[in-house]
Amino acid sequence: MRRIYFDHSATTPVHPAVAEEMGRFLSGDNFGNPSSAHYYGFLARRALAEAREKVARAIGAAPAEIVFTSGGTESANLAVHGAARANSRRGNHVLTSAVEHHAVLDSVQALKREGFAVAMLPVDRFGLVDAAAAAAVLTEKTILISIMQANNEVGTLMPVAEIGKLARERGILFHVDAVQALGKIPVQVDDLGVDLLSLSAHKIYGPKGVGALYIRKGTPWKQSLCHGGSQEKSRRAGTENVPGIIGFARAVELAMAGLVEESRRLSLLRDKLIGAVLNADLGATLTGHPRERLPNHASFCFKGIESRLLLRELDRRGIAASSGSACTAGSQEPSHVLVAMGIPPIEAYGALRLTMGRSNTEEDIDFFLSVLRPVVERLRSLPFQDV
Ligand SMILES: *Cc1c(COP(=O)(O)O)cnc(C)c1O
Repeated sequence: MRRIYFDHSATTPVHPAVAEEMGRFLSGDNFGNPSSAHYYGFLARRALAEAREKVARAIGAAPAEIVFTSGGTESANLAVHGAARANSRRGNHVLTSAVEHHAVLDSVQALKREGFAVAMLPVDRFGLVDAAAAAAVLTEKTILISIMQANNEVGTLMPVAEIGKLARERGILFHVDAVQALGKIPVQVDDLGVDLLSLSAHKIYGPKGVGALYIRKGTPWKQSLCHGGSQEKSRRAGTENVPGIIGFARAVELAMAGLVEESRRLSLLRDKLIGAVLNADLGATLTGHPRERLPNHASFCFKGIESRLLLRELDRRGIAASSGSACTAGSQEPSHVLVAMGIPPIEAYGALRLTMGRSNTEEDIDFFLSVLRPVVERLRSLPFQDV
């Protein structure tokens, strides 16, 4: 059966060059513990240092500012909790947006249970946070702002540099979840004005279970979650995932080398896909921003159709898509992102996200469209199952 993968925002296949590089660190002499004082330790330590340099270079950071983690979720947890711990004497107010990934939302909720005050920035109907609104809710007690650079569910690009400027002017720490942005649009720590930035490998053709947290030099931040050894300059205990980190660094390197060209190619595919779906007269509306969106990201709501059924029918015909977030797949609740954008539940229940990547071509879009019409028409003919 012909299969098309349209779910690159959930995860990506490991790039063959990444797998090859990782393979070298899963065999032979490259098994050492980077903390060991012998030859094997040296090999691992040297590889780790090179990987750190590659990741740092890609985002305009210094190697010492990179902490390797188990992925985007851990990075976001470390960022939010570490900033809160180190600055709780200055204030107890934290600002984020209503459309963040759960890694940030749930970290902030955990702070709330500890007595922090949390403000949530609303978004407009395109999922865009308003930087001016951010300025209005900041108080003397605000110690942290956490905003994503690109939304995973609807692809909207946020005005992070503007918010970074606000944060800087007031001496407030700024964390950016750049997991979806990395490899698709420029992510430069100085341009964004960030103090903390979260990255993940598996969204950019790297392995799962590895990522990084950027911590700007001099940032008041406290290790708060995982205690033990003095790895990562005592910012993240535990023997480093050497093969994973090597693979992550190679994936970053490849993503940077191809960023401009691949993003241009994907944005043409995206525009073709969006245009065709909207023109097909299937009762679909675009979600997210019409222009300020990730180059590989198309997302829609199909009125009166249940995502769950739509995804099942597409999957049976070889098309792997999602309703918006892999993390909430199977949940009966409409997405918090679509709700925050003011999309009525009857539409939000019919969310479809198509995120393209390296493997996708124009022919994939043509095939998808040929499948979509009969599927939608069939589901429309069924009574709506509001379960
Ligand atoms: C995938 C994702 C994460 C979580 O990263 P993991 O490495 O899967 O833990 C965080 N934020 C955003 C925006 C994401 O898309």
